[in-house]
Amino acid sequence: MKETFEFDCRLDTCPLCKSKQIVFLYAIVHAKPPFTVYQCNVCNFIFMNPPLTKESEIALYDEGYYTGEADYTYYDERKVEQYSQYVWNARLKNIRKYVQSGNLLDVGCSFGGFLQTASKYFTVYGIEPSAYAGKYAQQRFGNDVIHTGTLFDHPFKENSFSVITMIEVLEHIRNPYEALTECYHLCTNNGLLVIQTANMDGLQAKLQKHKYGYFLPGHFSYFTKKNLAETVTKIGFRKVMVFQPVDFGLLPKLLKSRMNFKSINDYKSWLRIARYHYMSKIHMGNFSLTSSMVVYAFK
Ligand SMILES: [Zn+2]
Repeated sequence: MKETFEFDCRLDTCPLCKSKQIVFLYAIVHAKPPFTVYQCNVCNFIFMNPPLTKESEIALYDEGYYTGEADYTYYDERKVEQYSQYVWNARLKNIRKYVQSGNLLDVGCSFGGFLQTASKYFTVYGIEPSAYAGKYAQQRFGNDVIHTGTLFDHPFKENSFSVITMIEVLEHIRNPYEALTECYHLCTNNGLLVIQTANMDGLQAKLQKHKYGYFLPGHFSYFTKKNLAETVTKIGFRKVMVFQPVDFGLLPKLLKSRMNFKSINDYKSWLRIARYHYMSKIHMGNFSLTSSMVVYAFK
C-alpha cells in the first residue's frame, strides 16, 4: 500500500449543486491520511476538499481494501457471501415489489456477490473500478458483463437497465451529480435506481461532528436525505422513496451479522443491532436519529 497520499487543487464550487457558496467544515484528523471537508451553504452537501488525486484514490483500493487488510475496510466479502445472502435476498424481495425482471446493473459490484444472487431474477451486469475486484467478477460472469472502470467509461447503452443499484458507492464518487445523471440515462423508463449512503442530517453525524466514523479517506461525498432526493428529482427521476434505516427488516441484518461470530457471547451484539435498527425508524422530515438510509428513485 502507498504510504504517502497527494491531494488535487481545492474545489471552489459544490460538486452537487455547483454553487460557489462553500465553506470549510471540519478537519478529519483521525483519518489516514487526514483530510478536510467543506460544506455547501446552498444544498448542505459535504465533500472532501481538496480531494485526493486520482492516483492516491486508486491506491486506496488496492488488494488490501478488498481482503480486509487495509485500515479502512471491513472484511473480504468473498468469505462471507453465505451470510450476505440474507441481506441481498431481502433487498431483492423489496426491489421486486416495484420491478420484477429485466437488466440489473450493480455499480461498484465488487466481487459480484450481489449480482450472483440477483441473477435468479434479473439479467445482471456490473461496473467495478477496482482492477483487483473487477477481474474476479469478470472471471465469474464474463468480460461483457462486468466493466472494470467507472460510470464514465462503460460500454453500456442508454435506457438499458430496469434496476440500477449503488450500495455504499455514491460516497466514493467525487462527481456525484454527473454519476447520478449517467444512472438516469442508463435507466429504462419506469426503471429504478437504488442508492444506499449515509444521511448527514442524522443525529449521529451531527453529534459526532469531525469524529464521525463515516469520514473516511475513500469517501468524497456526504449527502443529506433532502439534498439527495432533490438532486435525483432535478435530474429527472419522477418519484423518490426513502427507507430508514434500510429497505428491508431487522432479521436479515441479524442473520448476516453472524458472519463475525466466534462464540455464543457474540449474540449479545444482536441487542445493539436491534437498538440501532429501531432507533433508525425515528425520523421526522429531515431529522433522524441515525444516518442509515436507502433511496429508491423511479425514472
Ligand atoms: Zn451545493
